[in-house]
Amino acid sequence: MLCLTGDVHHSSLKINEQKYIKDPGDSEVKIACRYVKLIEAAGLTYTLYVTGKTLKEEWETFRPITDSPAVEIGGHTYAGLPRNFLKRVQSCFTGYPTISHSFSHGSYTKQKRDITKTIDIIREKTGRKITAWRSHGLVRDNNTYRILQKAGIRYISDSTDWASLYPETTKEGLISHAINVIMDHDHIYHAHRTKEYVERQKRNWTYTCDPTKESYTIEEWAEILKKQVAEREAAGGLVTVLMHPICMYTSDEFETAKKLFEFFSQFTTIRASDIERQNDNLS
Ligand SMILES: [Zn+2]
Ligand SMILES: [Zn+2]
Repeated sequence: MLCLTGDVHHSSLKINEQKYIKDPGDSEVKIACRYVKLIEAAGLTYTLYVTGKTLKEEWETFRPITDSPAVEIGGHTYAGLPRNFLKRVQSCFTGYPTISHSFSHGSYTKQKRDITKTIDIIREKTGRKITAWRSHGLVRDNNTYRILQKAGIRYISDSTDWASLYPETTKEGLISHAINVIMDHDHIYHAHRTKEYVERQKRNWTYTCDPTKESYTIEEWAEILKKQVAEREAAGGLVTVLMHPICMYTSDEFETAKKLFEFFSQFTTIRASDIERQNDNLS
């Protein structure tokens, strides 16, 4: 069983990758709309985590996604942990893209406000109460799950663990389904993630073990992903896949994504909020 997931961000966040959208009239949200059409055509389901500001600032463009029965919307922080001013200036001077988000949610109160604002704007625009969440950049702290649980979130997917086969219940009572196969953005050479950029990252950070050690061409990455999906599926696990619409677009304009959708269509796909119903192995 597969849970296909992705994240989408507002244009005003100006993440590095948005600079690689060729057509100035195009946007990350428009790309996500086209991606969802492909998901629907392949008969798959998708959980899309969205920043609150996307709905605030780009609602009319985003709206068709919320009409799709194939898609469940989850929260992805309100503002996407924007980089501070200094980091942005530094990036301008050096010409090097810096990491595109902050690594902290700030205080308990600040984080609670961010989570509440996200849930509220999604309910205001779509009329739906979300139960699924993934933090932007997978950034979480000791307060995150407690706040999410109190706010009515039930499903969380913000860790990477290739050894995890089944969803688990956290001590706060959330159902956590780790991304348990190779994720896209951090493992594919694409957009600003050139070989030079990745080497620089490796020098500065401690990328010593899987799943954060290596990057690949999109074709190589897809082969690894297919193998992992098939193995975990054969073992009876829940496979949570992370494929961002924008990464699939900037890598090769969905060519590989389309092939992967065809491959995925041999399996059952579920949305995050279907997990409890579908899994007897919850621990
Ligand atoms: Zn994100
Ligand atoms: Zn990417």
